[in-house]
Amino acid sequence: MSKRDYYEVLGIEKGASKDEIKKAYRKLARKYHPDVSKEENAADKFKEVKEAYEVLSDENKRAQYDQFGHAGTSGQGFGGFGGGAEDFGGFGDIFDMFFGGGRRRDPNAPQQGADLQYTMVLDFEEAIFGKETDIRIPREETCETCSGSGAKPGTKVDTCSHCHGSGQLNQEQNTPFGKVVNRRVCHYCGGSGKMIQDKCGTCGGSGKVKKNKKIHIKIPAGIDEGQQIRVTGKGEPGKNGGPAGDLFVVIQIKPHDFFEREGDNIYCELPINFAQAALGDELEVPTVHGKVKLKVPAGTQTGKLFRLRGKGAPNVRGRGQGDQLIRVRVVTPTKLSDREKELLREFSDLRGNDVTEEEDSSLFQRFKNAFKNHNE
Ligand SMILES: [Zn+2]
Ligand SMILES: [Zn+2]
Repeated sequence: MSKRDYYEVLGIEKGASKDEIKKAYRKLARKYHPDVSKEENAADKFKEVKEAYEVLSDENKRAQYDQFGHAGTSGQGFGGFGGGAEDFGGFGDIFDMFFGGGRRRDPNAPQQGADLQYTMVLDFEEAIFGKETDIRIPREETCETCSGSGAKPGTKVDTCSHCHGSGQLNQEQNTPFGKVVNRRVCHYCGGSGKMIQDKCGTCGGSGKVKKNKKIHIKIPAGIDEGQQIRVTGKGEPGKNGGPAGDLFVVIQIKPHDFFEREGDNIYCELPINFAQAALGDELEVPTVHGKVKLKVPAGTQTGKLFRLRGKGAPNVRGRGQGDQLIRVRVVTPTKLSDREKELLREFSDLRGNDVTEEEDSSLFQRFKNAFKNHNE
């Protein structure tokens, strides 16, 4: 099924202001909210509206969407809509505004744990060849002493007498438009709906403890700066039997003294002296895969690029291998011995001010070609 345009979903213009987006969303959310709507496919329509709003109300996501369409926003996890009140998270404030006393989140419903993010710094070579490593991340774990209940083992847990276990409190307010009922998280029980008589000594009643969890991570060869590895189920544990969140390992790569990387290709600059450049030479060039012989032909100019096929980084998705590109820089000597000076003077006498050999340089050639094409 192809996705509808988000602006079309909300019935607004491409250039709509933030206010217009919000207004359109509220109107449609009211119309299609599955708890109250009599419309056909209300849940689907609500989902569509919510997704459109989540993207268009976020400046970054909107910019991405404007530029790349749906492809620009995919994979960012706008959350699923499996059904059940839990899935309408984030709707709370608007819900209160419109519906006063509608259906609320059940504090005992399963909830997915939070996702965690971990930044891993790799050496240049590590990113190219990949590695396996253990990381330790502080993570909230279910307290083993109380199995997550927060109560001292063997003691009783009462239903909160203030909210009667719902985790929510009603607050009535008289306004010029009539009585408005606001529902808020019960501050007596913190929304859990339970009252603990004797708190667990290990976790202090939260049911969770921070632990340094060891997690084994496989870094694929060819990973690049800013890419992330998702380790499913290694985020924080869920509540009430809900699934754990995911762990995202974000990659940072330390710069290298000699190499630079762009995608799967590796770049470096190779200084040579002008005798090597003029006469040609065979040189040993470092690559991440070891030393490789490179033939520099006679008459090589600064800026000349040499490509060593397959000596770059492997593609992280297994699509081949990058190259190493070497840019030659001809270095003029600064410290000359007397004998060298003598030879260079001799060279200079022979040559005079003649630089005609530059005709063969690619720059000069391109310049000439540009002229030729103009005149033809
Ligand atoms: Zn309560
Ligand atoms: Zn505990």
